[in-house]
Amino acid sequence: MGETRLLLKHANVPGIRHYDAYREHDGYKSVEKAFTMTPEEILEEVKVSGLRGRGGAGFPTGMKWSFLAKPEGVPRHLVVNADESEPGTFKDRYLMEFIPHLLLEGMIVSSYCLGSNASYIYIRGEYAWVAEILEEAITEAKAAGWLGKDIKGSGFDCEIYVQRGGGAYICGEETALLESLEGKRGNPRIKPPFPAVKGAWGRPTVVNNVESIAAVVPIIMMTGAEYAKIGVGRSTGTKLISACGNINKPGVYEIDMTQTVEEFIYSDEFCGGIPNGKKLKACIPGGSSVPILPANLLLTTATGQPRLMNYESLADGGFATGTMMGSGGFIVLDEDQDVVYHTYTLARFYRHESCGQCSPCREGTGWMEKILKRIDEGNGKMSDIDLLWDIQRKIEGNTICPLGDAAAWPVAAAIRHFRDEFEWHVLNPEECLTRNYGLAHY
Ligand code: NAD
Ligand code: SF4
Repeated sequence: MGETRLLLKHANVPGIRHYDAYREHDGYKSVEKAFTMTPEEILEEVKVSGLRGRGGAGFPTGMKWSFLAKPEGVPRHLVVNADESEPGTFKDRYLMEFIPHLLLEGMIVSSYCLGSNASYIYIRGEYAWVAEILEEAITEAKAAGWLGKDIKGSGFDCEIYVQRGGGAYICGEETALLESLEGKRGNPRIKPPFPAVKGAWGRPTVVNNVESIAAVVPIIMMTGAEYAKIGVGRSTGTKLISACGNINKPGVYEIDMTQTVEEFIYSDEFCGGIPNGKKLKACIPGGSSVPILPANLLLTTATGQPRLMNYESLADGGFATGTMMGSGGFIVLDEDQDVVYHTYTLARFYRHESCGQCSPCREGTGWMEKILKRIDEGNGKMSDIDLLWDIQRKIEGNTICPLGDAAAWPVAAAIRHFRDEFEWHVLNPEECLTRNYGLAHY
């Protein structure tokens, strides 16, 4: 079975990036419907839908919205997290670049539900052209009366602002994002308080991922109950997956989370298999922060079932034999890839992106990078592998924000599942630097 397109339904319609074509294809109908409902009724639909945050954590969206504090006379905000920076993840960019009005439509409905009269899209600095596309879409939506004062006579006022980041991965962490939005250095805050209580400018704020907010459109149109019928178990609705690495058809796919991982990799409707008939070695299925799994554990769960492309099945077995859905950045590695080398490149990334506030992350990411570099280059010792293990253990759970965990998990999983490869590097120093990696699209 191929894609189930709710968000990408009209992605291939010529001109869908612009208002006229978007409106002709049911655009802004969910806003019309939402204005016939109360905010409480919309919240109920989102809760019933079972929608889980699509940025990576999978936190129930309806529950997050219901946590929003509503003190008398204090403005509330919706902030869309478009700081998509997780290596391997590019699904939000696709959505914003090709169907920007879908995000705006979801934002208007969500803002109405949450009582946000000023809502923000915080977009990563490198997506400069996408920010321009969004600005243009906002201008079009405003001209058509979907933004501004008393939208379509509803009595609801809403403006949407685009704020560009400066290119720091850490600003995708919601509290760092809020600091940056306020014009400060993007250092994560200690939680609690959660943004739902004390967010942008100290006001109650809901921070949601682009895809989560876009999903509100089909939820309102089809009802939460119908949306919840798609998918399996607590993995309801559809999920965008950005697929890359050693596959024949890299791209963004919308799945209903019932597919097996094997089907997703090998079916022509999705990744189309691995180039040149190479064997599958491993996969990082949810963006670089989630544990890498070797092929045998990737395709089959701890209980011997075919592993499915959803939250529960990917996590089956915990970190011993499972991984995470994460942000849906699906990175495939063929038999020629060197796990040590790729773990080193990820460690280099996390060291570079650490904000430096807490010692385990600031120091630990640097140590891991150095040790991985020397092992990768054939200058490591056997004891370095245990040292690496020890360092990642000391980072995990001991930092202000999840970047520390995100740096530790890939190292832990690589050692857990590919220790022999680390040992090979130590035992074969002269061969380490003559390897040809060539991971296309990575
Ligand atoms: P989290 O589990 O701490 O929080 C999830 C969300 O739920 C947050 O918005 C948080 O405010 C809210 N929340 C949780 N408990 C709450 C409570 N008691 N009251 C009110 N709100 C509450 O996770 P996180 O730090 O937001 O995200 C981590 C994930 O981000 C990782 O799993 C990773 O996969 C993902 N990630 C994604 C990208 C990307 O580019 N998409 C980049 C880096 C990391
Ligand atoms: Fe900064 Fe790392 Fe601490 Fe997060 S874990 S606050 S990125 S030093």
